Amino acid sequence: MSMHLLRMLLLLYTAAVTFTGAIAAASTNPLQVELPETVKKQGEFFTVRVSGTSSKPALWFMERSYSMFRQPDSSWRAMVPVENLTKPGSYALRIKTENSEQKVPVQVKANNRKIQYIKLDPSKQGLKATETEKLRVKTALQTESPEKLYTGAFLRPSPGRTSSLFGLKRSYNGAPVESYHKGIDISAPLGTPVKSTAKGRIVLCGTVNEGFRVHGNTVVIDHGQGLTTIYMHLHAITVKEWQNVEKGEVIGTVGHTGISTAPHLHWGTYLYGTSVDPQLFEGKTY
Ligand SMILES: [Zn+2]
Repeated sequence: MSMHLLRMLLLLYTAAVTFTGAIAAASTNPLQVELPETVKKQGEFFTVRVSGTSSKPALWFMERSYSMFRQPDSSWRAMVPVENLTKPGSYALRIKTENSEQKVPVQVKANNRKIQYIKLDPSKQGLKATETEKLRVKTALQTESPEKLYTGAFLRPSPGRTSSLFGLKRSYNGAPVESYHKGIDISAPLGTPVKSTAKGRIVLCGTVNEGFRVHGNTVVIDHGQGLTTIYMHLHAITVKEWQNVEKGEVIGTVGHTGISTAPHLHWGTYLYGTSVDPQLFEGKTY
C-alpha cells in the first residue's frame, strides 16, 4: 500500500468516526451545564445554567436540593447560595436529569468578615425575636415563585452610606457571637423614602404592634425564582401584603423600630431563604 493510499484511508476512517460521534451526540441530546465561576466566597452564590433538556433538572449543593427555573431561552437556571458560615473547602454541585448526572467541583473561600461588637441601648437589651416575627419572616423569605419578575440592574433601596457590611459576626453588649449580619445597613435620616430594589410582590408587612420586636416594621418582597429582599426597622410602611411593586416604587420610610441604634435601613437579599451579600445585587443584572 502506498503512503498516499494509507493517508487517504486514515482520513476517511477519522471522518467516519467523527461523523458517527456527532450523530450519537445529537440523538442523546447531551446535557450542557454552564457554571461560569466555580470559586465563590461565603455569602456569595453560584449561577448554574443547564440546557439540552426539556424536563426540570434536579440540583443539589451540600445535601440540599434547589429548584431550577425555566428561562426565556428554554435553559434552566438556579442561583445557589453559599451560606455565610459554610466551612471553606471543596464541594460539588450535582445536576441530574432522567438519563444523565453530572458533578461539578466547586470551591468555597473564606470572606474573612470580622466580629462586630454592638452596644445596645439598655431599654432594648435582652430583646428576643418573638415567635410571630421569626416564623413570618422565615416563611416570607423562603418564597419560591416560578416567574422571574426582576429585570435590569438592582437599585440601592435608600440613599446614604453603608454603615455595616453583610456577614459580620455579631456580639451584643459583649455576649458571645451567635449570629452574623444578614444584610447591609444604610445610614439615612428618619423618614427617608425606601424603594423596592426590583419589581416584585409584597409577601410580608410586619409591624411592631404585631410583635416585630427585633426586626421592627418590616417589608419582604418576592422577586421570583427564589430571590426575596427584606427591609427592616422602617418608620412607616406604605404598601400592603400581596400587592405588586415596580422597581423603584416607595414601600416605606427609614426608621428606628425594633433593635436599632440609630435611624437606618437594614437591607437583606435572600436566595431560597439563605442570606447573601446585597452588594452582589446593587447595580448588577442577573
Ligand atoms: Zn442590619
